[in-house]
Amino acid sequence: MEALENAARRQALRLAARALEQRLNADTSDHAGPELPCACGEPAQYHGRHQKTFESVLGPLHLERAYYHCANCQSGFCPRDRALRLELFSLTPGVLRMTGSAAALASFEESSALLHELAGVEVSAKQVERAAEALGAEIAADERRCVEKMGEVAPTMYLGMDGTGVPMRAPEVAGRTGKQPDGSAKTREAKLVTLWTAESRDEEGKPVRDPGSITYSAAIESAAVSDTSPNRSDFAERVLREATRRGFTEAPRCVVLGDGSAWIWNTARELFPQATQILDRYHAKEALHRTAQSIFGATSDGKAWATARCAELDDGKLHAIVHALKPHAATSAEATKCAMYIFHNRARMRYPKFHAQGLCTSTGVLEAGCKVVIGTRLKRAGMHWTVNGANAIIALRCSKLSGRFEDFWERHCDRAAA
Ligand SMILES: [Zn+2]
Repeated sequence: MEALENAARRQALRLAARALEQRLNADTSDHAGPELPCACGEPAQYHGRHQKTFESVLGPLHLERAYYHCANCQSGFCPRDRALRLELFSLTPGVLRMTGSAAALASFEESSALLHELAGVEVSAKQVERAAEALGAEIAADERRCVEKMGEVAPTMYLGMDGTGVPMRAPEVAGRTGKQPDGSAKTREAKLVTLWTAESRDEEGKPVRDPGSITYSAAIESAAVSDTSPNRSDFAERVLREATRRGFTEAPRCVVLGDGSAWIWNTARELFPQATQILDRYHAKEALHRTAQSIFGATSDGKAWATARCAELDDGKLHAIVHALKPHAATSAEATKCAMYIFHNRARMRYPKFHAQGLCTSTGVLEAGCKVVIGTRLKRAGMHWTVNGANAIIALRCSKLSGRFEDFWERHCDRAAA
């Protein structure tokens, strides 16, 4: 049966490809006279019909198109390629879309193999890379331009910010300071903004994140501007666009969640002074575990100490945590750091108060966001990126994961028709 169905599919696709080929090649209306204006302003001359093979969802298509050559810039073009949007790496729009879908999820090599196996479409890993990066760059530009409202404004809206290091190719981090022992950098930080709602309640009446309510926007970009600059940082602009899309500030209650990073709270203060700031409880507990590990090593004493501090954290007993850190301050820099962390973020760590207000303080969204959006696709073994390449794939992934790809594709097609 498998051999039969596969043979029948190949046959059907081949027939369909020949039919489409004949129809397109019989139409010579793309020959618009002996001359057409070139992009340089000079006239380009008609040079007959040129054949080229395009990869389509039906397999290869051999298309003959009117070709115009410009003597001035020594290059040529086919009006039909533009009309049918065939100019991207010999891929038809149908294959380009499949390629984008695959590359959002899997590596370029895996995408190439999947396209072959599932769709019978031949796109090399290099072609996948170039096409996905071009598509991702277009999505990134579209995201900056198009800030359409999406989804409902809930009574409480949550906005989280987080960062994660993306492994870079050496030239991309040359001369940058980082966390390597010699002070050099191997990664650049991708910054993520996440929005979601949590109107649902579990059996105990605690707020639970609403399925399908999460959207993401991220890039490797700066969250800092000089004090004298009248402009916002690139990342602040991104946060503002995403907040506008989701109607964040229109909600009766808006909450910003983050870890201890200064850039997060600077951005929150600048953009949403009215929002409730909460230090993500998951991150706070991670900090306590890290501190326990550095004081006690990986011992059961350390585990017990961390468990006790986490319970105090949940109960809002910040003084008790600081008190427990004190005896270790002289010998452990981590202990001192942790005490400072709690002191600086104490207003964001009033968990019993937040819980009484029915607010989420640790939803897993923030914790998972960087893994889902960036880690699983960009931080796999052996992967090294350029900033442009990483940002294109991040944009593609955010668009897919936020349910915005279809809307983008419509605009992409409208632009092609214009
Ligand atoms: Zn020209």
